[in-house]
Amino acid sequence: PLVLGIESSCDETAVALVRGDGTIVAQAIASQEAEHAPYGGVVPEIAARAHAERLAPMIAKVMGEADVSLDDVDAIAATAGPGLIGGVMVGLVSAKALAMASDKPLLAVNHLEGHALSPRLADRDLAFPYLLLLVSGGHCQILAVEGVGQYRRLATTIDDALGEAFDKTAKILGLGYPGGPAVERLALEGDPRAVPLPRPLKGSAEPHFSFAGLKSAVLRAVQSGAYSPADIAASFQQAAVDCLIDRLTRALRETGPMPALVVAGGVAANKTVRAALETLAGEHAMRFSAPPLALCTDNAAMIAWAGLERIARDGDDFAGDPLDFVARPRWPLDPAAEAVRGAGA
Ligand code: ATP
Ligand code: MG
Ligand code: FE
Repeated sequence: PLVLGIESSCDETAVALVRGDGTIVAQAIASQEAEHAPYGGVVPEIAARAHAERLAPMIAKVMGEADVSLDDVDAIAATAGPGLIGGVMVGLVSAKALAMASDKPLLAVNHLEGHALSPRLADRDLAFPYLLLLVSGGHCQILAVEGVGQYRRLATTIDDALGEAFDKTAKILGLGYPGGPAVERLALEGDPRAVPLPRPLKGSAEPHFSFAGLKSAVLRAVQSGAYSPADIAASFQQAAVDCLIDRLTRALRETGPMPALVVAGGVAANKTVRAALETLAGEHAMRFSAPPLALCTDNAAMIAWAGLERIARDGDDFAGDPLDFVARPRWPLDPAAEAVRGAGA
């Protein structure tokens, strides 16, 4: 099957055509970094307008490049949440219109499910179950992924997501937006042991993450004037990695042996994070899988892929979602998981 995917939940407008065998036939991605940079973060209204301007011509371009028409497409998948609701609505309504015009099924995709399954798009031998670290701008969770649609949340953040902590650290250091890649670059020139920073919840019996205290400690370190920005960036990154490893080790004690450790979401693009996770996987005799960098941050191929996973799972029983599917600003992957303080759906 061939699925058209649309992503518009944050500040990336993205369109992709993906085949059931994982071939990305064509794709386009437009970042809104320039529009949001003056504000130091994503402005929802600006994001929604930019998606509305760009999406239709991008769909036309991707279809044209692949030389396919809607007749050749088996379903139209769009992010239906969670995310900034104005942008989500632009993508979802566009997909509904295309589905209606072509009489093809609509797939309302959970953006987090797109991230969670993206490693299987890149690594076709990756089987269920796997232990997933989902680290992005809005989420920091550990999930046991048991199958398509079967996600058991083991941990979430009780305050900030890790991507958010990277972005705030970048802001404090005056590195601008988006922060993750800038902090990673600066950290290359710093000493990860130079600045004493906390590892919130490290060693704790409770399963969750916390990054607010780390962010405040970064602010105090900058204000003290005692450390170079590079040392602060490197020490922050190391503290964050130590927290990830500690919490994953705890989760593994809870699950027992798992065949694979998988990382997804924007922070998975970080090389220090990837290296530490790969080492941890090796120590536990687990396969390690991480998508290529372009599939870590927001993209439409992962949305089309999540749709294809559902088509493959359901076989002859496959049915699309109703055309009145409502965009969801919040949409947890594991609805049974208990709500915790702060963010973290
Ligand atoms: P969510 O998926 O939770 O809705 P989002 O879509 O905004 O949030 P992603 O696009 O998956 O998140 O990831 C963006 C986040 O990843 C940003 O916080 C960014 O700073 C972070 N990030 C990107 N590259 C890196 C990197 N190399 N190192 C650390 N963080 C990074
Ligand atoms: Mg983005
Ligand atoms: Fe995302």
